[in-house]
Amino acid sequence: MKKVSLVKCIDYEYEKVKYAISQSVNNLGGWDKYISKGDKVLLKVNLLMKKKPEEATTTHPVFVKTLADLLVEYGALVVIGDSPGGPFNEKVLKGIYKFCGYDDISNDDTISLNYDVSSYEDTNPEGLLLKKLEVIGVLKSVDKVISVSKFKTHGMMVFTGAVKNMFGTIPGLVKAEYHYKMPNVDDFSNMLLDVCINADPVLSFMDGIVGMEGNGPSAGNPIDVGLVISSESPYHLDDIAVRIAGMDPYDVPTVKSSYERGLCEENLQGCELVGEELKDHILDEFKYPSIQDVKFFKNRVPLFLERILDYNLRPRPEFDEKKCIGCGECYRACPPDAITMKDNFPSVDLMKCIRCYCCQELCPVKAVEIYRPWILRKIVKM
Ligand code: SF4
Ligand code: SF4
Repeated sequence: MKKVSLVKCIDYEYEKVKYAISQSVNNLGGWDKYISKGDKVLLKVNLLMKKKPEEATTTHPVFVKTLADLLVEYGALVVIGDSPGGPFNEKVLKGIYKFCGYDDISNDDTISLNYDVSSYEDTNPEGLLLKKLEVIGVLKSVDKVISVSKFKTHGMMVFTGAVKNMFGTIPGLVKAEYHYKMPNVDDFSNMLLDVCINADPVLSFMDGIVGMEGNGPSAGNPIDVGLVISSESPYHLDDIAVRIAGMDPYDVPTVKSSYERGLCEENLQGCELVGEELKDHILDEFKYPSIQDVKFFKNRVPLFLERILDYNLRPRPEFDEKKCIGCGECYRACPPDAITMKDNFPSVDLMKCIRCYCCQELCPVKAVEIYRPWILRKIVKM
């Protein structure tokens, strides 16, 4: 049985968050069970892009600070890090730490922000698709890893939790390469599980105090969830988190794949809930991302027809001329180079587009909308 803890916390007041995280650690059996005194621990946070904490795109700095302070009080050393979307270099990291409110967390003594932008090839014998993978250098220099994710929706993966958070252990633009090589949702989901298996977080915490609904992971809206969710298993944590969002776990590819691979059991059979009752915290009318894909013509019509229908019916990115500031982030992030910039405005070649929605994910001004043809909306009924 894997423990998943739910502790109520309604805002980011330092003492309240510290109490909730302490309770969570107690619920899971205490630090001793997972961390040794003197360990160097990586807090793998979600720092997708430059966003203010209140936008609910990134793990809130108060959440990270309290977790880091508790680990230091216990006797560990803490490094905070992520490889955000886009290039992975010191300048980018500096800008993101500052913008996301992380500058004040470090003390250069016991808590530091990661600036190691090296990477190395690691072997992953338990991986299904990735037996070898390129990972960020800091993984090598720490004793333990803790996943510190954000409660959020995700265009391609429906929900991004403790498991998908570990994708940030893949350096910068290598992530785009993995997207490109594994455009199919099932493959991508299994790849994410492989990355998580490789990073092997000993504990996972989810900042579910304020989450994001709608067009996550960056263009949705903040929503009060009021919970610190934690577990000794990132797979079990996500299984509970998506239920809190009111989602069917089978609609979330990483959860579905974790059942299929025996990393987590269906119907909560291997899950021991500690703390708050799940049923008291399920969100009514939580908004899914509006871009759920449907391949309903697959194997039902000739291939050429399937391609034409697919081209015309699949959700597709569209760029809002009024909002676009011409920064080119979408162009640089697009894994198959499907975007071209003309007069500082993007356009997409839909035959090349793999519907990964990285363009929407990384647009700083929410200028990328995902258009769903009316017939698709009718069929999916969302
Ligand atoms: S255009 Fe957007 S959705 Fe399509 S492949 Fe590029 S980044 Fe992904
Ligand atoms: S759509 Fe967004 S990311 Fe792309 S150029 Fe415009 S503002 Fe930048």
